[in-house]
Amino acid sequence: MAIREIITVPDKILRGKARKVTSFGVELQTLIDDMVETMRVAPGVGLAAPQVNVPLRAIVVEFNESEDEETPPKLYMVVNPKITRFSSDQDIGTEGCLSIPRIVGDVERPISVTVKGFNRHGQPLKIKASGWLARIFQHEVDHLDGVLFVDRADKVWQIEGETTQIAPAD
Ligand code: ZN
Repeated sequence: MAIREIITVPDKILRGKARKVTSFGVELQTLIDDMVETMRVAPGVGLAAPQVNVPLRAIVVEFNESEDEETPPKLYMVVNPKITRFSSDQDIGTEGCLSIPRIVGDVERPISVTVKGFNRHGQPLKIKASGWLARIFQHEVDHLDGVLFVDRADKVWQIEGETTQIAPAD
């Protein structure tokens, strides 16, 4: 595994539409392993392939939904993810992005979503997510279409220090 460089705005790759993954071979496996490692080192709770300069539809998410610190966070690796259901209920959360250093913003998004896609071996998967996990999935899937949280934010502001990818505002 290797840590890859996370590209930042205004790099054009962040604004492009990523291509569908069609091969689940060694290259994809290496990419996913590297994305997990890069996300953990950053640290962040999600990463999309375009953020490591690879315009393919793949995301990784690692987030602990439980309040219990002894429960390990759950790792999701989704290839060709698609959000197939959005709740009509929305809420506002403060997001950041590893590709937009030192900027955070309030974004209103559906509270729960269903994500369909494939695991790293090409088997179909379906994830029902709510709360922060749902927000992270929406943020990451947006990256695959060249959409950044600042496009959706009602309000953005600068912070000092490093930005982690979507920090729950607690
Ligand atoms: Zn991001």
